[in-house]
Parts: sequence; C-alpha cells; structure tokens
Amino acid sequence: MKVPFLDLSRQYRYIKNNIFLGFEKVFEKQNFILGRELKEFEQKMSSYLNSNFAIGVASGSDAIWLSLLVLGIGKGDEVITTSLTHSSTVTAIIRIGAKPVLVDIDDKTFNINPGAIEEKINSRTKAIIPVHLYGQTADMNFIMEIAKKHKLFVVEDACQALGAEYGGKQAGTIGDLGAFSFYPTKSLGGYGDGGMIVTNNSKYYDKLLQLRNHGEINNNYSEIIGVNSRLDTLQAVILTEKLKYLDNWNGLRVEHSKLYKKLIEEKALNNYIEVPYESEMSTHIYNLYTIKVKNNRFELNKFLSDNDIGTKIYYLTPIHLQNAFKSLGYKKGDLPNTEKVCDEVISLPIFAELRDDEIELVVNTIEKFYKKGKK
Ligand SMILES: *Cc1c(COP(=O)(O)O)cnc(C)c1O
Repeated sequence: MKVPFLDLSRQYRYIKNNIFLGFEKVFEKQNFILGRELKEFEQKMSSYLNSNFAIGVASGSDAIWLSLLVLGIGKGDEVITTSLTHSSTVTAIIRIGAKPVLVDIDDKTFNINPGAIEEKINSRTKAIIPVHLYGQTADMNFIMEIAKKHKLFVVEDACQALGAEYGGKQAGTIGDLGAFSFYPTKSLGGYGDGGMIVTNNSKYYDKLLQLRNHGEINNNYSEIIGVNSRLDTLQAVILTEKLKYLDNWNGLRVEHSKLYKKLIEEKALNNYIEVPYESEMSTHIYNLYTIKVKNNRFELNKFLSDNDIGTKIYYLTPIHLQNAFKSLGYKKGDLPNTEKVCDEVISLPIFAELRDDEIELVVNTIEKFYKKGKK
C-alpha cells in the first residue's frame, strides 16, 4: 500500500458536482474577472473569520506584499520576520524595497520567538510579520504588545493557518492585516493560485481594492498606481464550495494528529521522534504534521520513501542560508534554533481524507526503521 503525502483527488470526488454547476454559471455570464461570485466569497470569508473586510488577490505572496504596500512600507524601512518560512514571506519585504530582519524561532512551536524581537527593533523598524507555521499561530499577545509599545504594524502570514484560533480570534485577524494563500496544498486550496488579505480597517480595504486592480475605481481611470493581482471568479467558485467543509476538514486533520500521537506513544517511538507541540493559546489546524527526528533524519526519510510513504521536509534550508538571500548578510550559526530545527524536521502525510489504516502504516514503518536489527 502507498500512503501519499497529500491526495487532493479524494476530496475532489465529493465536491466535483457543485463546482461544475458553479463553473457553468460563470461560463454563461463570462464574468471571469471581479465577478459577483468573488464578492460573495469575500463576504463569506470575512464572516467566517469574523473580520470586517476580505480582499481576494492573486496569491499569498501578493497578499503579504500588498499588505506592506498599503501600510506605506518601503525603502529605508525594516521588517522583522522569521527565517523558518516559505521564501515568499521574506521576498515580499524585499519586493517592497524594505530590509528583512530575521529573528530566531521558539524551537517548541516552530514560530518566531517573541522574546527575541525587541533587540532587533530600531528607528527604521516599521512592521513585524509573524508566520503561523504548519497551522498553529505565533504568540500573538506578546507580539501585539511589542508592536504597540514600539508603534509597529503587524501583518500576519496566515497562509498555513486558515481556521486556527488564538485566544478566541481567527488567525489572520489579530494584526493590522492578515495574508492567506489558496495554493492547492493549503487547507483551503484552489485549483490554481490565489490569496486573500483580511483587515478590520476600512481605509486599508478601500485602498487595497484599488491596488489589486491597477489603481482603478472606475474602468480605465487610475486613481493611484496599482497592479494586476485579483482572485479569479472561477477560483472563488471553487473556494466558496470548499469553505463549506473547511471546519470539518480541519477537524479531521486534528483527529489524524491525535491518532499519530497515540500510536507513536504506544510504540514508545517518542524516544526517537517528537510529535508536534500544541500551545495552550492557539488551536492547531495541522496544515502540516511536522515531527522532529533526533537522529538519522535523512535515513528515516529515505526509509519511508522506499516504503512508498510520502513525506516532505519543510524546510530543509532556512531563508538566511539560501543563496538568494545571501546579501542580507547572515551566516551559519546566526539563528541556532532555526538551523537545528531544519536539521530535524519531517512532515508526515496529513489531509482530511487520510485513513486510519494509512496512519497506522506510517507509524508502523517508522517503528520498523528504529527497531530493525533489534529483534
Ligand atoms: C504558501 C505560503 C506562502 C505563499 O503563498 P502563495 O499563494 O504560494 O504565493 C507564503 N507564506 C507561507 C508561510 C506559505 O506557506
């Protein structure tokens, strides 16, 4: 039996009919750009998240970049974030013309260590971008306190955490703006690229509506300089259908995480691998199920793949050690917790439709790896 890292075709079978019905309406109307279905999806998302406004954009990367743009961040400014993230978090800062300042993580939660932020703040610092990695939020109370004290903006990179809650609030709605991605592998994934910005601030909302659409209010009159970064009407149709199931799917991911934990502990594999830590303040939606492997990470990873079990490593190389970001001037040893975690992590299969027998096989295979030769 093969256990895929992620198999989206299983959910596709359930939602296919409604998606095609929705497509047909759009095809009939030919309203592919900024159609009514997009507006409806934006309204559904803002009510799901309990946020005043939601703006569909072309990708999660653009959602972060446009958030920085609407805040007026640019040349000469510094923005603090983490090095354990997808490159686009950091690239958004560079793209806006500002300087990324990378802070080490808390190696339990994998998220930015708020205690390490303040020492990096100076007169050029304008914003903090916490990344809610793998589906669990950063310590937002601590971060918001620092931001308030130093008058900094907070843009949440919630691309991996749609549906996670922190202190009763939805991930992405705590800072000034929150960025989401609908990349197919995210917990709410489209059939192509897409992203969303959420905010409670009507000024940012009005301006973002223009920024994503060439700076236009009416056709062919640009009030400000904008770009083309819109969420397609067709993607909105798919995402509206999938949003109906999001809580259910996130709940199934949590159940799978519990089964993983139970089996790993039953087999005493927690001497070899560490299951994800769950913080008290944040729920975890398990966009990724990431374990820490104390020894022989690559050997275990290879053993799993030789046994047809899909895994991935998020992330093998932290941002500050990737060639593209060399000019930021970091070197090995600068962010020790981040580097240590990159040497230890493996993400195991997790998605709503994953079956219990598949989880059992994954854990049995891990057991085989550690206990082989000990019989
Ligand atoms: C996926 C992701 C992004 C980028 O989203 P895209 O839609 O692929 O541009 C940014 N940050 C994090 C943490 C992500 O996981």
